[in-house]
Amino acid sequence: MKLLILPGDGIGPEIVDVARKALAALNDRFALGLTFETEDIGLARLEATGSTLPDSVQDKMRAADGIVLGPVSTHAYPHPSEGGINVSAWSRTRLDLYANIRPSAVRPGVPAHVQAMDLVIVRENTEGFYADRNMAWGTGEFMPTKDVALAVGKATREGCRRIAAAACELAMRRNRRLTIVHKANVLTRYSGLFLETAREVANAYPDIEVDDVIVDAMAALLVREPERFDVIVTSNMFGDILSDEAAELAGGLGLAASLNAGDDHAVAQAAHGSAPDIAGQDIANPAAILHSTAMLLEHLGARTGDNGLAAAARCLADGTDTVLAHDATRTKDLGGQGGTRAFGDALVARVASEG
Ligand code: NAD
Repeated sequence: MKLLILPGDGIGPEIVDVARKALAALNDRFALGLTFETEDIGLARLEATGSTLPDSVQDKMRAADGIVLGPVSTHAYPHPSEGGINVSAWSRTRLDLYANIRPSAVRPGVPAHVQAMDLVIVRENTEGFYADRNMAWGTGEFMPTKDVALAVGKATREGCRRIAAAACELAMRRNRRLTIVHKANVLTRYSGLFLETAREVANAYPDIEVDDVIVDAMAALLVREPERFDVIVTSNMFGDILSDEAAELAGGLGLAASLNAGDDHAVAQAAHGSAPDIAGQDIANPAAILHSTAMLLEHLGARTGDNGLAAAARCLADGTDTVLAHDATRTKDLGGQGGTRAFGDALVARVASEG
């Protein structure tokens, strides 16, 4: 099985290096038969080749069984006509990674802002209000006059159906509760289609308890009673915002893991950005990319029926939580004293040796 590793910008190379070393240790220990290839993308690649994502890397992304993608400094990229391809947007649309799975949980030993929480936000990843990528031609953002800006939101029945189905399947593997988050009271067509379709899909799962919540109330409820939620399904932008909120409640963005999954491809990618304010200081928290990588292994294990991948995924997730639970190795964004490299060393030692 071929894994492609794309370190990205800012803190990307530091945290992805920890994931790469952990994968190598797991590959040896569980005899996974993985092969790895690493390619520069982003600002380093732009300087060298004139593009943040050259065609050759795009081809490798299409051919890989799984990808570990570091965060990218999209704010600093030039216009796509000058080589600034947004790698996140490219992968989500071109590899059709329609499900963005973003778990948030209170973890033993990690200081959190809430007492109890164990939920997963299932975010639609290919349409919604991401106007830069939701048109067949051109951009969905435009200015009729210099003082008026418009943006197009896109919802398709099939897009809503498949993300709702992914959320229901996940709810069946968890606690069988599904919350549909929307704004159908105002966006009666756009968000109404999402709500209506998600309810129709959920009707085929009589074992799942379903409710729906308007997105602004959801922002409050997540703070007030996060323990109430199990699987939350929502559209692209709402999911992006709510998942950062949930990650912060669990302790911080350094914990914000995510998997971008479609029917044919999967990309492990932390939900946080490239954190240029702390890049190169050995203080970035690698936990989010490590948990994302564990989710990728689990996904590949489920797709192939390979129990070794499933065991390696559990080992990586548990090992990351153990390192997080210790003050000496936890990074300082979570009140610990560890650095990125020390976290990585402790993790690799653990996954290389323990059951
Ligand atoms: P950010 O997530 O990079 O940083 C927000 C805050 O969280 C910063 O204070 C940062 O230091 C902290 N932080 C983030 N990840 C951390 C980690 N692993 N460990 C410790 N602290 C961490 O958001 P931003 O500053 O708004 O964006 C920076 C760049 O990242 C921008 O160019 C933006 O476009 C890009 N971005 C990329 C992605 C992605 O690649 N998926 C997502 C969001 C933002």
